[in-house]
Amino acid sequence: MSDFLFVINPATGEFIQEIKIDDSVAVATKASQARKAQPAWAARPLSARIDLLARFKDLLVQQVDRLAATLTTETGKPITQAKNEILAIPQRIDFFTQNAARLIAPDLVYTEPADATSQNAALEEIIAYDPLGVIANISAWNYPYFVGANVFVPALLTGNTVLYKPSEIATMTGLAIAQLMHEAGIPQDVFIPVVGAAQTGSALLAQNIDGVFFTGSYATGKKIAIAAAPKLIKMQLELGGKDPAYVCSDADIATAAAGLADGAFYNNGQSCCAIERIYVHTDVYEPFLDAFLLAVQAFKLGDPTRPDTDLGPLSRKPQMAVLSQQVADAFIKGATIHCGGTPLDQQGFYFAPTVLTQVTHDMAIMREESFGPVIGVQRVSDDESAIALMNDTDYGLTAAVYSQDRDHAVRILEQVNSGSAYWNCCDRVSPRLPWTGRGHSGIGSTLSEIGIRTFLQPRSWHLRK
Ligand code: NAD
Repeated sequence: MSDFLFVINPATGEFIQEIKIDDSVAVATKASQARKAQPAWAARPLSARIDLLARFKDLLVQQVDRLAATLTTETGKPITQAKNEILAIPQRIDFFTQNAARLIAPDLVYTEPADATSQNAALEEIIAYDPLGVIANISAWNYPYFVGANVFVPALLTGNTVLYKPSEIATMTGLAIAQLMHEAGIPQDVFIPVVGAAQTGSALLAQNIDGVFFTGSYATGKKIAIAAAPKLIKMQLELGGKDPAYVCSDADIATAAAGLADGAFYNNGQSCCAIERIYVHTDVYEPFLDAFLLAVQAFKLGDPTRPDTDLGPLSRKPQMAVLSQQVADAFIKGATIHCGGTPLDQQGFYFAPTVLTQVTHDMAIMREESFGPVIGVQRVSDDESAIALMNDTDYGLTAAVYSQDRDHAVRILEQVNSGSAYWNCCDRVSPRLPWTGRGHSGIGSTLSEIGIRTFLQPRSWHLRK
């Protein structure tokens, strides 16, 4: 194995730079630094930790152009989307900082006055919230700011130290985040970047840590779960999805087509909550498909550094073969390819936006996470069939229903097993709501109040005066 990560620009295939990997000795040193630093970090007043994260937030905004350029260079994310991602982080930080004090404060849940006859002293029962300690944050590349900040911001606020391993595909961004944290005044041994791929990730899990917060694929999530199990530490897994949408017979077609084209193709379909399957009621199938194809064909594919580019290259070269295989499998089994279907014959990891119909659940395209600009659209005869198909998956991250009738949509969504339910919208995340998966989409929640408390462990105080 090489001692270096080689960063490649996916838009050109060109080598950008090499970055030294942390071997197991370096990882162990970093873990013991984080352990040593944790009590002093937790002992700082919350207001001091909030001030430092507010400074980090300001630096992100001030340096957005440089940071977005780095993200685009290493992942191929269109520059406008890179800036949007970074500029959405302050809102998340604000949510966390505004709610932390209330959620960290001890709760006095019971008091009992002294009992003169039995000579019992007065009693107080209090729930206190202690930090977990040292946490490992093993992260993904597709939204490194979002998925990173969902973990490291509340973890730091609640008094934990963080060993942050960015994805090997977004390491320049991970290091830029660490640099800004330190520039903001967060000590070097409180937020520590760990560089490398799978081997470094497993070295990290071998350390004396109190929690692992992972974002990535189901395949890797299983390995993390197995490695963490004997430690009996806190474990959260935010994994993949095969998120469905259903267009009802009473849907507004223009809204559904525009919303779902964006939901399926934003970030080149490389979102955990990208729309990956569309079911359409037979009454509106033709008008929906026409409008959807028009929306997809209007996307501008090309150089991700241009502000008007909608779709850039895939971030990972091997995914071109995965998508080609999914399309070929569907085609052999009877699918119709309306557009795309192949990599582009040019430099870089470009795959043409692809829409398939006549698809079935015998095809990989309707069962396995695609994580790219390909989508299957399936005609259904009624709501019951749509519900059955939406539930025919091991995943359970999000589900969307388009209808002009809220009650109709909610009745359907209540029958679909997913962590998030969307009516007339999709591919949306809110700091106020838990981000949570079911089944192969993961365990635990980030964001919302639950996503702050998750970095704390309760202590029950029984106090007799
Ligand atoms: P991945 O599973 O390939 O890698 C994720 C991280 O795990 C990387 O940092 C990688 O270096 C590390 N890793 C790999 N093998 C490891 C091992 N054996 N031990 C420890 N660490 C290891 O995933 P990815 O390609 O980075 O991300 C894409 C996946 O993430 C998709 O499935 C996507 O749906 C999912 N995702 C989920 C969410 C969510 O919130 N649910 C958000 C973003 C991405």
